[in-house]
Amino acid sequence: MTTLLLTHPACLEHDTGFGHPERADRLRAIDDALSSDTFKNLKREEAPRAELSQIERLHPKAYVDMVHAEIPKQHHNWLDPDTVVSPGSWEAALHAAGSIIRAVDEVATGRVTNAFCAVRPPGHHAEPSRAMGFCLFNNVAIGAIHARAVHGAKRVAVVDFDVHHGNGTQAAFWTDKDLFYGSSHQMPLFPGTGARDETGVGNIWNAPLAPGDGGDKFRAAYEERILPGLDAFAPDFLLVSAGFDAHLRDPLAQLRLLEPDFAWVTEKLVEAAAKHTGGKLVSTLEGGYDLDALAASTAAHVQGLMGAS
Ligand SMILES: [Zn+2]
Repeated sequence: MTTLLLTHPACLEHDTGFGHPERADRLRAIDDALSSDTFKNLKREEAPRAELSQIERLHPKAYVDMVHAEIPKQHHNWLDPDTVVSPGSWEAALHAAGSIIRAVDEVATGRVTNAFCAVRPPGHHAEPSRAMGFCLFNNVAIGAIHARAVHGAKRVAVVDFDVHHGNGTQAAFWTDKDLFYGSSHQMPLFPGTGARDETGVGNIWNAPLAPGDGGDKFRAAYEERILPGLDAFAPDFLLVSAGFDAHLRDPLAQLRLLEPDFAWVTEKLVEAAAKHTGGKLVSTLEGGYDLDALAASTAAHVQGLMGAS
């Protein structure tokens, strides 16, 4: 049994322009970090494209058509003040969503234990009908719905440790008691959602943290709120929105996590998967904008996944 690593060169061709934090060098830094001997046992595959029908389980066709129509023939186009697309963005977005689909297929059928998708654009801010926060399609939510539609999962959980609240995933899951969303994030911070009293139909578990909070507060949020909620939900498939922008060095936020905190939360999620899902866990990259912190934190996360496989 093994851990699968999915990525695709098309994800480097989503060009966000000079000075944008969500840039192709993020994936190059991760690729470098995962090239060391420590990771030689990873099973590596190129992510296929998602079918539009798989994306349209979450996003209305009119929205998908709008994103396609907004892709420029050259230069850039802005879907909102943060979310920029270039000629390569469509293929990147299809492969990013496709990586989650393939990862769910491989994990659900038991060909691998778990998987990490090193892809961009990220997804957790994309609402069913709205691109925002660097995100076009909500990769992790598309994966959750795919696990249910194709693999018979009845109760699917997403845990999100990106420093920003995943408003898109929350919006997608809001009225569905068989989809769980648990998130730790800084508040106040973009996108402004994620208060504790946003609970959906009892399936949304937000654990906001204050600027300056470090690993102790982060771990307490999991021990006291998110992990008990996840335990009570008892998922049969677990997905993770793995953003590494809660790191001390990250330029976009003010939490103070270090690599051991990402290793710790990975270990806890792996334990939860072992208990509830037979180990089935698919993790996907969201944010993380300091290249060195991103590379080292991703390496700690993937090592944690490999430790379980
Ligand atoms: Zn983020």
